[in-house]
Amino acid sequence: MLESSFTPRSRAQQAVSCLFLPSIVLLNLSAFALAYSQAASLELIVTLGSVFTLAAAWFLQRWLPLQATWNAPHADTRTDLVSMAVLLGAVDPVLKALGIAVAVWCVSQAPAWSSLFPSDLPFAAQVLLAVLLLELGKYAAHRLHHALPALWWLHAMHHSPKRFSAINNFRFHPLNYTINFSMSVLPMLLIGIPADVMWAYLAITQPVLMIQHANLDLRNPWLDKLFATPRSHLWHHDADERAGQLNFGSALLIWDHVFGTFRKVADGQMQPERIGLYAGSAYPAQASYLAQLLSMLKPPCCRRAGA
Ligand SMILES: [Zn+2]
Repeated sequence: MLESSFTPRSRAQQAVSCLFLPSIVLLNLSAFALAYSQAASLELIVTLGSVFTLAAAWFLQRWLPLQATWNAPHADTRTDLVSMAVLLGAVDPVLKALGIAVAVWCVSQAPAWSSLFPSDLPFAAQVLLAVLLLELGKYAAHRLHHALPALWWLHAMHHSPKRFSAINNFRFHPLNYTINFSMSVLPMLLIGIPADVMWAYLAITQPVLMIQHANLDLRNPWLDKLFATPRSHLWHHDADERAGQLNFGSALLIWDHVFGTFRKVADGQMQPERIGLYAGSAYPAQASYLAQLLSMLKPPCCRRAGA
């Protein structure tokens, strides 16, 4: 069972708990703005910002944990690392290359598609529109994975850890990751989103994603309403199936507010009693990464966990 209330913190811990998230977001956005103004590589600056944020979260977990017991070995780090290597080393680069190739082919067949994105708007307005549309696509993909039994079996890999740790964010079935990409990034490529607008979206959202599953006790009641922070996203990983159908947002919770799936995190509020797979789940969470990957092909695949 998780701790039922907030753990007392030193002044230094309270300050970092409050300032870490806004500082890291502002730092990443400032670096992006500087790179944009200097016509430097936006991909490089977003990548460096993501690596820095993930490293900072990884080390801070020891000092400022949501749950101190989650820092002990849980025999899940190997699966997390293999999944991270597969996603970042193969799946993500292939999807980006294929997505661009598909977009180029589609535009050659129907040139009007590539001008649907309003690239004549001011840059900030384009970024705002991109944030809304990309987050909507990811929100819809996430809800589908919870609603459809076959997709839930893919998404169960992401929900299988019984704790939060910075690298849990990279535990996704490649097909789950592909569907998310196909419902968010790919449509934006097809309608001609400018590359710098896409990088601006990533500069805003990547810092949040890098800390989202960290075992970090961040206390920002206002930011918990806007961003999918560790504390607000923790409720989505509630092992109680009915209670966990909320806070589906990827980096931002905008669409949860719109569609009524937002759960507020109040100061002093209890955390979920337990996180992880739903009671009675047949998903092989303790098996190897490869066994989990292929479990979709075996009975009782395509049955909602816990059903
Ligand atoms: Zn989920």
